[in-house]
Amino acid sequence: MLLLFRDQVTQEERDLVQAHVRRITGTPAPHLVEIEGRYVLPLETNKIDREANLFLTSLEAVERILPIKTSYKLVSRLFKETTSTVIVGDGIQSRAVAFGGNQPPRIIAGPCAVESREQLFTIALAMKEAGADILRGGAFKPRTSPYQFQGLGVEGLALLAEARKVSGLPVVTEVMEPDMVETVAQYVDMLQIGARNMQNYPLLQACGRQKLPVMLKRSMSATIEEWLLAAEYIVAAGNPGVVLCERGIRSYDPHTRNVLDLTSVPLLHELTHLPVIVDPSHATGKCSLVPTMARASLAAGAQGVMVETHCNPSEAFCDGKQAISSQDVRDLVRYSHAIAELSYEEGRNTTYEHSAVRPHFIVR
Ligand code: PEP
Ligand code: MN
Repeated sequence: MLLLFRDQVTQEERDLVQAHVRRITGTPAPHLVEIEGRYVLPLETNKIDREANLFLTSLEAVERILPIKTSYKLVSRLFKETTSTVIVGDGIQSRAVAFGGNQPPRIIAGPCAVESREQLFTIALAMKEAGADILRGGAFKPRTSPYQFQGLGVEGLALLAEARKVSGLPVVTEVMEPDMVETVAQYVDMLQIGARNMQNYPLLQACGRQKLPVMLKRSMSATIEEWLLAAEYIVAAGNPGVVLCERGIRSYDPHTRNVLDLTSVPLLHELTHLPVIVDPSHATGKCSLVPTMARASLAAGAQGVMVETHCNPSEAFCDGKQAISSQDVRDLVRYSHAIAELSYEEGRNTTYEHSAVRPHFIVR
């Protein structure tokens, strides 16, 4: 259930409703969330009987109570019908890039890890030249082995902020610990929560307390519901700027690093209003497969794609095998423009609304 406050509700009125909810449920009232200027209070359905529902609805400050049956509520399409727009970059230190809504698909590209000033700046300028929208790069790397390169840490964050200045592209990087969220947020435009941390609830909440948008990657073994509930944690903590990123799920065939579950894209458009993007690099683990699966992602309705690229893949500190070339990124940008144009020609105002998504095939 979601309790929707009236427009222009005062602080005292909100406090009074929360006090009533505390009394009725016998538990602390959940955090009040502001979404697009409206205050919303998520309620546990089993704690609000018919009588309590009627009482709360009768309060002056309450517009209505939405009976949302799914476990995730604030991120549900049942709550908000129109696709959300998430803006990355402040338009001053870098350009501002919007995901979702009726925006064209966006391309995020960059190295797996920030390795050095020279490496990052070379790639950043090549990505700007290729027409990518956002620069990625890991400063803190969650590596499977403790002996693998763990990232440059804060030094890497400072290089990302410099690369933003040089290229004008907003930057996204992964944050792994709740205590590091504030530090990372000072350097970048978007926080990334990696697959391994999708269910790190203190981390989700810490990112939820920030103003910066968050890219939430799917855990390698998460169900769609677990993933949406992880997103709900961030939104319920006060941050509505979440972009979901499908990055493949674990399976049995070692030919590819993961299995790219592209069905999740149109499925998520049915279930949630949050923008959805795809990372075909970690999904496939093979540079030869990335461009095709990137195009497939966009054809399936992804509102963006994140790919890894490197100026010298054979020397990369990590994930060199899945790094595509600058030319590949340029081609992908061209394809994304073509797919946006096709949607525009069809006269759709919400480019990737789930009901309207049809496959588009373009031969390059
Ligand atoms: C990454 O994008 O740098 C990364 C580590 O990916 P994932 O969390 O999906 O494995
Ligand atoms: Mn990587």
